Amino acid sequence: MNRVVVVGAGLAGVRSVEALRAHGYGGAITLIGEEPHRPYDRPPLSKAVLMGQADSTLVDSDLDVLRVDFRPGVAAKGLREGVVETTEGELACDGLVIATGASPIRLRGEGPQHVLRTIDDALTLRARLTPETRVAVVGAGWIGAEVATAARKAGCPVTVVEAAEHPLAAALGPVGAHTAAWYDQAGVELRLGVAVASVDHGGLTLADGSAVEADVVVTGVGVRPSVGWLAGSGIELDDGVAVDEHLRASMPGVVAVGDCAAWWSRRYGRRLRVEHWDTALGAPDAAVASLLGEEALYDPVPYFWSEQFGHMVQYAGRHEGARLILRGDPAGGGRWAACWVTGDDTLAAVLAVDRPRDLLQGRRLIEGGQRIDVDRLPDPAIALRDC
Ligand code: FAD
Repeated sequence: MNRVVVVGAGLAGVRSVEALRAHGYGGAITLIGEEPHRPYDRPPLSKAVLMGQADSTLVDSDLDVLRVDFRPGVAAKGLREGVVETTEGELACDGLVIATGASPIRLRGEGPQHVLRTIDDALTLRARLTPETRVAVVGAGWIGAEVATAARKAGCPVTVVEAAEHPLAAALGPVGAHTAAWYDQAGVELRLGVAVASVDHGGLTLADGSAVEADVVVTGVGVRPSVGWLAGSGIELDDGVAVDEHLRASMPGVVAVGDCAAWWSRRYGRRLRVEHWDTALGAPDAAVASLLGEEALYDPVPYFWSEQFGHMVQYAGRHEGARLILRGDPAGGGRWAACWVTGDDTLAAVLAVDRPRDLLQGRRLIEGGQRIDVDRLPDPAIALRDC
């Protein structure tokens, strides 16, 4: 292999370039990215950048030392075996890393709506967050909560509209309800159980016929994998690029990583697509090893964090079908955690609110798969590793 193309210059893309060199690959690398920027981190966009504490989040990676032909502002348009078609012509390759991430879903309607995916989105939105500007956020998920936090800090009256019965419903199920009080405490109006019918000039029309007046609308209702350019290529797609447990796509010499990749998880016995920073960071090493013909398995316990309303929220694992045990009292306003336990008393997932040690120890217990004493779990004074 001597000509590798990496499509997508986000975290997963740049980590793939680094991994190629770390694994001793000495051939040519071309990195193309649709955005006009050098690779940067996205988590601070809805935190430090929106709050005016940072203007740039560039990834600390020396592209010259990595000897990569970096082409910003160039998008892939199509793929046939050995050739990537781009907006600037064709690129021949004998190895391809797909790292095109995901794009935000927009709502129906004629009115202007902000989304938050790029540094440009963040800087544009930040400029609109001035005192007394009425902000409507659609979606009480991770992004919605963080945008609401920043907008309140900027002195904006904020309304969050959520179709589910409580915040974070898709990610956490009923446990998300324990975060509803944070909105109230921050002075955010939270409207639950009602969908948005359309984004209009001057605000939102809701499905129940009511309206939310707003100067700024921010839509945070999820993302879709950016894989439209692969249509007709013959690469198997299944909510993203379908890859095996080694992150290999259905076309030889092609791997996929990060938000756009749906990989086969040996641990969970199903395909997973995880839109979190830790996946974009960790997957490239295994993917590149597979590309170079080494034996590599990608099988992590998924992990993410969020900073909202003054709380550090961290989650590891997958809780589908597991039973919930709380540690500490969420209603008390203090630190608490939620543990999900399987039928054979192993830890399936942990959610830690301002309890980073629970996250750390819980993640290890999940990875190790050993049995725990579930009767000790509810006592937050007992360390998780001693349960
Ligand atoms: P991306 O970062 O999306 O990078 C993909 C790149 O590919 C983009 O630059 C895109 O323009 C480019 N591209 C797309 N299509 C093409 C094409 N056809 N040709 C060329 N280039 C293309 N995760 C957490 O765990 N914790 C957090 O607190 C957290 N906060 C977040 C806050 C925000 C505002 C956002 C947007 C995400 C957050 N995430 C968080 C998620 C995390 O940032 C993503 O999982 C991570 O960025 C995924 O990296 P990626 O490289 O796979 O994709």
